[in-house]
Amino acid sequence: MTDQSTGKAIEFDRASVRFGQFQAVQPTDLRIEPGEFFSILGPSGCGKTTLLRLLSGFLDPTAGDVRIGGQSMVGIDPSIRPTALIFQNLALFPLMPIWENVAFGLEMRGWSRARRRDRAYELLATVALSDHAEKMPAQLSGGQKQRVAIARALAVEPSVLLLDEPLSALDLKLRQHMRAELKQIQARTGITFVYITHDQGEALTMSDRVAVMNRGRIMQVGSPDDIYDRPANAFVATFVGETNALAGKLASTAEGLALMETPLGGFRAANPKGLRAGDEAILFLRPEKLRLLAPGEATENHIPARVLRRDMEGAWSTLVVEAGGQELKLHLAHDGREAPPSGEIALGFSATEAMILPKGEMSDD
Ligand code: ATP
Repeated sequence: MTDQSTGKAIEFDRASVRFGQFQAVQPTDLRIEPGEFFSILGPSGCGKTTLLRLLSGFLDPTAGDVRIGGQSMVGIDPSIRPTALIFQNLALFPLMPIWENVAFGLEMRGWSRARRRDRAYELLATVALSDHAEKMPAQLSGGQKQRVAIARALAVEPSVLLLDEPLSALDLKLRQHMRAELKQIQARTGITFVYITHDQGEALTMSDRVAVMNRGRIMQVGSPDDIYDRPANAFVATFVGETNALAGKLASTAEGLALMETPLGGFRAANPKGLRAGDEAILFLRPEKLRLLAPGEATENHIPARVLRRDMEGAWSTLVVEAGGQELKLHLAHDGREAPPSGEIALGFSATEAMILPKGEMSDD
């Protein structure tokens, strides 16, 4: 968030959407602060775009209210809302130079050509495209075109910029580059960004806060660290980042920790939801928290395992092992010198780095 924020607060107040018999968005309460970079993250079909359409104005809630800057948006035409929308498949006018593409919305508002040109050049500087103002769209790369689309959306001075998977058509390198660019543009302009994505990497790297959605319901709202380190439920734990999941039953609890019986043995782990002895639960353990033990090394939680394979990922490798009839993954730093582990091994983890959550729906992504 920035000090010079020009954005407006967004409020969903028990807003829901029903298409015939199908409830696409359950009654939702959500507040997005002015000048915030806010992402809505979730699997395909979970209702992200539907939620965004309530802001852009192409849909009204079936029940409840949606407010921007304190004003209800229900029944307000998209053209007079303080929002601008950027789609995944942006369309520039092929026969207009870049600066005219950027200034298009201003012509509609009756600005003179000279004023439009000045404003377009100013916006092209914001997205680092000053040198390309006189070129035609066909002369630009995919990422440059995407930045033109952003400049065009900014031209009408929206208080809220809505971005619907704007990077999904770009290749990996460009996508990573554009993440940093978008974040910078947002910080410079202070406009509230609402960013829809199914890509957790995008959501975690750019956002001040993230809402994780599943089946029309917001599962958790929090900072990227909250979402990753303190998932609210089994769905968030499995949808965001990689994790190992061990099903079992709580045997006993003490001071924020619990002992859980699983087919792989009994383990101690954090019990943030205060589950009780006898409760069915799932123990979540990130691959980077699982350690390879030296022979004879003692640890709080010990898992005998057998190496199945090693997947090279570049800076690290993923070791896939079998333990108690289940596959587990752990990350190993890759230094290219030591021989990778094989055969029978022992793994360990500390109780505070694993988390026990109630049994619930998990992501199969
Ligand atoms: P994706 O990432 O695939 O775009 P999404 O999370 O944006 O997915 P939405 O487009 O919001 O999902 O759709 C949510 C659900 O509502 C889907 O099951 C979809 O089929 C349904 N849906 C969306 N629009 C309509 C409509 N006009 N009529 C009926 N059902 C709809």
